[in-house]
Amino acid sequence: MSMDRKLFLKITGCALAGAFTGEQLLQVVDAQAEAASPAPGALKAKRWGMLIDTRKCRRADDCDKCIQACHEIHNVPSVPDKTREVKWIWKESYEHAFSVESEYANEAFEQRLLPVFCNHCDEPPCVRVCPTGATWKRESDGIVMMDWHRCIGCRYCMAACPYGSRSFNWSDPRKYLERTNAGFPTRTKGVVEKCTFCSERLAIGEPPACVEACPEKAMIFGDLADPKSEIRRLIREERTDRRKTELGTNPEVFYIL
Ligand code: SF4
Repeated sequence: MSMDRKLFLKITGCALAGAFTGEQLLQVVDAQAEAASPAPGALKAKRWGMLIDTRKCRRADDCDKCIQACHEIHNVPSVPDKTREVKWIWKESYEHAFSVESEYANEAFEQRLLPVFCNHCDEPPCVRVCPTGATWKRESDGIVMMDWHRCIGCRYCMAACPYGSRSFNWSDPRKYLERTNAGFPTRTKGVVEKCTFCSERLAIGEPPACVEACPEKAMIFGDLADPKSEIRRLIREERTDRRKTELGTNPEVFYIL
């Protein structure tokens, strides 16, 4: 009997015996799916994280190649109504991104726009509030994932995320796509979406689309658990900041400002 079949029978048996609630059952399935051996060539880490060197990013203030690449690959719709826009990565003013209130600090940074996206927090409040297990933190590498099929559109996760990293599809997103990438699922009206650190690309040995597209190599993606990784070297050697750390979310996206 294959492992998948054995696992299916075991999980079904436990569910029928009332050993799991629906959410617990989904978590077991996720854990088991993660435990399956990754495909040969997949990029792996104990804890994925990102660092953005805004000194390099700043060389081309109007550059949005990271946004374009991400949104094209992931079928992120360009909704004209800004109050209902859908975004996985976007630019935010320094003041807004870091909630800086000092007028002196703002003076130095007021013109700065920084790329922001989901911080793949180590203590993600979005995960805690999701009633269906549609979002969860992967045990294997810390990525905060989304399953759009399980999302019931309650938007608790959006209320819980202090970074505005999640978007809601108020209408059918497919009508706002100029082109569709057939290799990535489109979403439907009534579901929430966000960046997943390109988990689908990591699985086939490719880095996140934004990292690959950045002409300045300003985005460094790597294993925070590996002291020898480039991201760890930069965090050791440079002054870095993270967004709203006072909230206890432990964001895993770092900025050199
Ligand atoms: Fe969740 Fe927001 Fe943190 Fe991403 S940035 S993990 S959506 S709380």
